[in-house]
Amino acid sequence: MSGKKERNKERREKRLQEISLLSTIPYSDHQRWWSQETVAVVTGANRGIGFEIARQLAGHGLTVILTSRNISVGIEATKALQEGSFSYDVHQLDILDGESISAFVEWIKQKYRGIDILVNNAGVNYNLGFDNSVEFAQQVVDTNYYGTKNMIKAMIPVMKPSAAGARIINVSSRLGRLNGRRNRIQDATLREKLTNLETLSEELIDRTVSSFLQQVEDETWQTGGWPQTFTDYSVSKLAVNAYTRLVAKELCHRPQGEKIYINCYCPGWVKTAMTGWAGNISPEVAADTGVWLALLSDQAITGKFFAERREINF
Ligand code: NDP
Repeated sequence: MSGKKERNKERREKRLQEISLLSTIPYSDHQRWWSQETVAVVTGANRGIGFEIARQLAGHGLTVILTSRNISVGIEATKALQEGSFSYDVHQLDILDGESISAFVEWIKQKYRGIDILVNNAGVNYNLGFDNSVEFAQQVVDTNYYGTKNMIKAMIPVMKPSAAGARIINVSSRLGRLNGRRNRIQDATLREKLTNLETLSEELIDRTVSSFLQQVEDETWQTGGWPQTFTDYSVSKLAVNAYTRLVAKELCHRPQGEKIYINCYCPGWVKTAMTGWAGNISPEVAADTGVWLALLSDQAITGKFFAERREINF
């Protein structure tokens, strides 16, 4: 391994050690704005990072709703929580199915009268290693971007007013960075429009992903200047990141007591089904930044992108 790679690896490992230490430090009473009455919903919580986020939030004493598109798999997943004194519930939810989302919202209203935290974790990726197939591009964009958007639109009206503010966390990816050094959209004008909050709009994000999907259909996407690694996935997460900033801007004028903060984060490269259990960190570590963002006590952070508890540029 080259000296630079070696140093980067050491730095990463040190940072991961710091994080695992931070996650063992209990929140003090004055930091704990939540209680068992605080309700957190996690999508795709039947396995992987989603399950781990749900487990850790329940461990901090919140009531967690694990959602799963296959309810029996979701119920099975909750068995792992039966040991502790956790407060949790489980419900069917397919983020691509309007009827499933409506049924979930109705159930939430009836049983919990609203929620405090939404973690949009459900997602798909069909490439491994150096593959870059776009065979499932439509499903990847639909699930990761439109599914996340469906959930945000459906849940904002049922987010409860509170002094601490409600929170939305989108589990995203560094691969969707707009202005990273590598793997970015080549068109500088489009990048600038998506970066600048004055020009960023839902229509622009939708148009960008539609243009990619059209090129997939026309088989011209390879020369379209799109990110080179896991192209469909990167485009979908780029859209999630841009949408996070846009929603933060739209929500920022809410009065105190009705605030909703929204952020996204990259969990790292994680040993889950999505990576074929490759990856260099466990779901436990990968969940950390999401849980930390969900529980932030005194900083009104919104519209940001994080990795390992640190803000990084979009
Ligand atoms: P997994 O494949 O283990 O879990 C994905 C979860 O999403 C599953 O519960 C899956 O349900 C669910 N899901 C997929 N489609 C839908 C849908 N339409 N409705 C509801 N749930 C759905 O992956 P990870 O835990 O690794 O990934 C979790 C998140 O983290 C994703 O958003 C992913 O993009 C992101 N991420 C992961 C990285 C990694 O290295 N693993 C890196 C960067 C980001 P089912 O079991 O029914 O398929």
